[in-house]
Amino acid sequence: WQAQQEVADQILAYLERTDCVFQTREAISRFMADVKPFELTPAEVMQLVNAAPRSRVEIYLIIEECEERLSPEQPATAAHARRGVPMLSALLHAACASAPPAPPHFDFDLVVIGGGSGGLALAKEAAALGARVALADYVRPSPQGSRWGLGGTCVNVGCIPKKLMHHAGQLRRVVEQDAPAYGYDLSALRLADGEGAPHAWPTLVRNVQQHIKSLNFGYLSSLRKAGVQYFNKHASFRGAHEVVLRGAKGDEVVVSAARVAVAVGGRPRVPDDFVGAAEHCLVSDDLFSLKEAPGSTLVVGGGYVALECAGFLRSLGYPVTLLLRSIPLRGFDRQCAEMVLSHLEEEGVVVVRGTPQLAERSASGRTRVCWRGGDGAAAEGEFETVLVATGRTADTSSLCLEAVGLSAGKDGKIAAKDEATAVPHIYVIGDAAAEAPSSRPELTPVAIRAGLLLARRLYGGGAETFDNRMVPTAVFTPLEYACVGLSEEEATEILGADRLEVYHTHYQPLEWTLGGRPHSLCYCKVLCDAAECGRIVGLHVCGEHAAEIVQGFAVALRCGATKRDLDATVGIHPCSAEELVGLRVTKRSGLPAQRDGC
Ligand code: FAD
Repeated sequence: WQAQQEVADQILAYLERTDCVFQTREAISRFMADVKPFELTPAEVMQLVNAAPRSRVEIYLIIEECEERLSPEQPATAAHARRGVPMLSALLHAACASAPPAPPHFDFDLVVIGGGSGGLALAKEAAALGARVALADYVRPSPQGSRWGLGGTCVNVGCIPKKLMHHAGQLRRVVEQDAPAYGYDLSALRLADGEGAPHAWPTLVRNVQQHIKSLNFGYLSSLRKAGVQYFNKHASFRGAHEVVLRGAKGDEVVVSAARVAVAVGGRPRVPDDFVGAAEHCLVSDDLFSLKEAPGSTLVVGGGYVALECAGFLRSLGYPVTLLLRSIPLRGFDRQCAEMVLSHLEEEGVVVVRGTPQLAERSASGRTRVCWRGGDGAAAEGEFETVLVATGRTADTSSLCLEAVGLSAGKDGKIAAKDEATAVPHIYVIGDAAAEAPSSRPELTPVAIRAGLLLARRLYGGGAETFDNRMVPTAVFTPLEYACVGLSEEEATEILGADRLEVYHTHYQPLEWTLGGRPHSLCYCKVLCDAAECGRIVGLHVCGEHAAEIVQGFAVALRCGATKRDLDATVGIHPCSAEELVGLRVTKRSGLPAQRDGC
C-alpha cells in the first residue's frame, strides 16, 4: 500500500504541474458511469484501461474515482470492499507501465503569446525545465507602417534604441564642451561655426537598426537552441486550450496547449480627442527607425518616454517643443521630476502647457498642431515632426479573450494575481498584466523576472513569486534620473514628516570641471525612517550615470540598509556614487546642500 501511495504521490505531483484535470474529468465521469469499473474484476478493469490509449492523468483520475467509491471505511458492498485494494494496485501498475509519458491531448505544454521581454524569458526557462513550448510573436505595423523583428518593445522600439540615442545626445556635450578643455583640437568638426558638432541622423538610425537586427537574430537562435517552437504569427484564443495562429498572409494553424501565457505587452496610445493625430503624428514605435532627420519637433506628453525623446532630440541639435498637459513624470519624486524638466528647459527645450486638439498637414508640408493652453486660450504651432507619447495600452484587443471567459480593463490589461488570471491554466505577464493587490511598473526587468519565476513555479517545483519591493528605475533624460524605493511625497505620507529624515547634496562630477559644466546641477538624496534606525526607504540620484549608481544601491536597500550602513561604507574616490556614502546635511537643518573641496 505504501508503494502504491508513493506512485500515487508521484502521479499527483505530475498532475499538479499540468492542468489536464479539468479537461479529462468529464471523460472520467463518463467512463465511470458507462463502464462501472467497480463492478468488474481487477483484470477486467486493466483490460479496459489498456484497450484505449489513456494518459497518465486519465488513469490517475480513474484510480482516484475508484478509491473514493471503494473507500474501506464506507464500502458500497462487501464485495467492493474486498476488491478495492487489489484493483487499485492493478490500476496503479497499469498507470506506470503503459501510460504515455505526457498527456496526448495537447500539442504543447505551454504556448506563449508574445515574444518580448517577458514572453522570451518565460518560454526559454520553461523549455529548459523540460516543457514542450511554443512561442508566437507578431508585430502589427504602427499606423505609420513601422514594423520590426523578434524581441518586443524593449529591443526594437523601447529601451535599447532609446538608450543608444540618449548616449548619442550625451556624446555631443562631451565633444562640444569637454573635449576641447581636455586638449582635443576638434576644429576639423567645425565646432566654432556656432552650429555645434555636425550630426548625421541617418547614420545614427542605420547603426542603431543594425544593432537591433543582430539582437533579433540572437533571440531567434536562442529560441531554437532552447527547443522552443517559434511561430511568426498573430495568436488569439479559440477555446480554453486552443490558440489560432495567423500568418501575415492569412494562413492559419490551430495549436492546443495545456497552458497559455499572454505576454503581448503594450502599444502607444493616441488620445481620441486629438483629431488627426493618428494620420499626421508619429509615436515612439516610429521614431527610432525614422529615415530622415526629424527637424523641429513637437513632443506631446509628460511621461518618461516623452521627456526622454524630447531630451535626446534636443541634445542632438533639433529644436524641440514639449507640450505638457499636466505635471511631468507623474508618480516620480516631485523635486527630482522638476529638476529634470528645468534642465530640459535650460538645454533649450521649449515647454508649453496645454491639451492638444488638432493635427493637420499645413501648406508648407509641415504638421500644424492646435492646442488649448493651460489658461484656456487657443494656441498653435507648425513642426516638421510631431511625436505623441501620451501613454500606452496593453495589446489585448485582438486576443479574443471572450473565447476563454476573460476580459481586459480600459487600459487593455488583464487582471492577475502572481501572473495567474481568473482562468486556471491561462497566465499573463509583463506590461499586459494588471497585478493585484499592488500594480507593477512597466519595465523590461520586471517582465523578465515575472516570466522566469512563473516558469520555475510551473515546471521546476519553484515557489518564489515576484517581489515588488525596491524595484529601481531610471529616466534617461539629459540630466539622468534614477531612483529606488519611495518618493519624498510617498515617504512623508507613509512615515509622517517627523519620522522622515532626508539627507541630500548637490554635486558636480569631477569630469565636468574642466569643461566648465554647471557646478550644482547633479543632486542626490536619501530618505530614512528615523523610527527604524535610519532604514533607507528611498534613494534618488539626478546626474550622469544615475542608473549605474542606483542599480548597486538597490541591492543594499533590498537588504534593509540603514543610514549608518551608508556612513560606514568607504567610498570609491573620485566618483559620483561616493556622494551617497558621506551625506551629512539634512533637509530639516536648512543648511546648504553643497559639497566643498575634493
Ligand atoms: P513587449 O516587450 O512589448 O512584447 C510583446 C510582444 O508581443 C511584441 O513583440 C508584440 O508585437 C507581440 N504581440 C502582441 N500581440 C500579439 C499577438 N496577439 N500574437 C503574437 N504576438 C503578439 N523599460 C525599461 O526597463 N527600461 C527602459 O529604459 C525602457 N524604456 C522604454 C522606452 C520606450 C520608448 C518604451 C515604449 C518602453 C520602454 N520600456 C523600458 C518598457 C519596456 O520596453 C516594457 O516594459 C517591456 O518591453 C515589456 O515587456 P513585455 O514582455 O510585457 O512586452
